[in-house]
Amino acid sequence: MPIQILAADVADKIAAGEVVERPASVVKELVENSLDAGATEIQVEIRDGGRRLIRVSDNGFGILAAEAPLAVQRHATSKLSSTADLDHISTLGFRGEALAAIAAVSKTTLVTRFHTDATGTELRLEGSDILGIKPVGAPMGTSISVEQLFWNVPARLKFLKTDATEAGHVSQLVTRYALAYPEVRFTALNDGRISFQSPGKGDRAAVLLKVFGADIARQMLAFESSNDQVTPNIGISGFVSPPALHRANRTYVELFVNRRYIQDRNLTFAVIQAYHTLLPEKRFPIALIFIDIPPKEVDVNVHPSKAEVRFRQPSLIFRAVQRGVHRTLVDSAPIASLQPASPMSTTDWAERRQRLLQAGQDDGAEPGQLAMGLYRSSLGDDDASQVGQSPAGTSDEAGVLPALRPVGQIAAMYLVAEGPGGLYLIDQHAAHERILYEQIVGADKEPVATQALLEPIVIEIGTRLAGLVSDNLESLRQSGFDLEAFGSDSFLLRGVPAAMGRQDPRRLLEEVAESMGENDDLVGVDREEALVRIICKRLAIKAGQVLSLAEQRELIRQLEQTSNPRTCPHGRPTILHFSAAQLERQFGRVQ
Ligand code: ADP
Ligand code: MG
Repeated sequence: MPIQILAADVADKIAAGEVVERPASVVKELVENSLDAGATEIQVEIRDGGRRLIRVSDNGFGILAAEAPLAVQRHATSKLSSTADLDHISTLGFRGEALAAIAAVSKTTLVTRFHTDATGTELRLEGSDILGIKPVGAPMGTSISVEQLFWNVPARLKFLKTDATEAGHVSQLVTRYALAYPEVRFTALNDGRISFQSPGKGDRAAVLLKVFGADIARQMLAFESSNDQVTPNIGISGFVSPPALHRANRTYVELFVNRRYIQDRNLTFAVIQAYHTLLPEKRFPIALIFIDIPPKEVDVNVHPSKAEVRFRQPSLIFRAVQRGVHRTLVDSAPIASLQPASPMSTTDWAERRQRLLQAGQDDGAEPGQLAMGLYRSSLGDDDASQVGQSPAGTSDEAGVLPALRPVGQIAAMYLVAEGPGGLYLIDQHAAHERILYEQIVGADKEPVATQALLEPIVIEIGTRLAGLVSDNLESLRQSGFDLEAFGSDSFLLRGVPAAMGRQDPRRLLEEVAESMGENDDLVGVDREEALVRIICKRLAIKAGQVLSLAEQRELIRQLEQTSNPRTCPHGRPTILHFSAAQLERQFGRVQ
């Protein structure tokens, strides 16, 4: 179909305006155009996080010289001509808005050669103004360079995050398309360095290996359940993590409909629900779900960035996804081994209770009830004040803790201690975080002590995390990791923060990298601080861990020695104080 300006009635039916928000949104539109043009090779290049340059080049069928100026106009598209076409869209684009919107906020150069033409065309724009058009020698396909994004809309420039963050979003996007289109060879270049390349051989598992790294890819369960009798015409396939492999949030559930990445709360829930009790509480699977349905069964024209779709029969899709995932999990693992692994499970409680009884610390109340009772009805929320802010805590000088005597542990979460000023409740996790934090950073901000590993280990963690680790290499070193790049997606780890003890270094590095992705707008010292806090959080003893009296004593002793014992590195209180006076008042001993 030639490129043509959509008739007003069709244009009006199209979900409102394309917004170019950040470099990744530019890359998304350009890559979709390349895929729609039948490309088998797509190269995505960025400089300075995409601020300076975004270039997407493909070997697709190109644009006719005469049509090139039309392509950058609003509502100009070759993918749609009538309202009826909107009912069965099989291309990724259809609005004819993207190129116009991108050109309007950048300095764009389009070089293209239509597959049957001998020469190519170069079109240069500054904002929406065409600066020039001329014939050039060019390979078949299209290359669009977007320079100085937002040069003419400084307000939007301000909303961009650090180059590393923007590059991260671009990389996430490219890896998603690479997974959706395994037959296309994607190459991503970041500041001249190849940061990702997919094999382009049509093997999705091979792309998975590149994106997630061998460790995770090896564990993922592949599945394909298509066109069964209950859900004819619906094909569900993909990869899901086994119950033992999980993440702290649901963003690792990725959904694709007819190879378009979409967000859908219901379907994400269908995936999570398929795991039922197989995952620990508040943990989520890694999943890549590809749904293939006839285009008329899905409306993609509901959201400006096409990230949400509407299904004609949503419940059918829901069930198909849930069943597909569940069957995969059941088939892949012996049922007996699929015990609930929740740290709060009844078996855990029973065992913990038993240990408490043996230690002579249990008075028969459920640990949880005991804690709540003490806090709520006996003292009242208002009377439980943080040490140091308590007017009654007269024996405490700011910053310093009095010598405390441990009395016991409640709910495997809090330590009870007695001191000269009355009763103290210590949050064991928060307290330990504080202790580790000061061990790692040191009160005098000396460099973090590193403990060398006996043997350096090679850690291969996949493109997504590898990007985060390389962007933060310096901060990680400051935080005690002796780490260097080792090939494209691997790192050589020679040493770890000395406070790390016997933790699995690979897992720690992964978790730290993941959390960095979540706190991605931090810079410089903030970032190093944030890293150390992440490490502390990960290493600190958890709520739910039963401590012997000796361990309690040691924890309190170490907390007393910190220079800032009253808050954890995240600013939460480590310790609550109930003064003798408060207790007396509550018990009605004082008039
Ligand atoms: P849409 O993709 O919604 O049609 P765009 O503004 O993204 O709108 O692109 C406008 C038109 O330019 C497309 O319909 C297509 O004909 C042409 N075009 C854009 N990029 C490419 C490309 N990489 N290869 C071939 N044609 C392209
Ligand atoms: Mg498009």
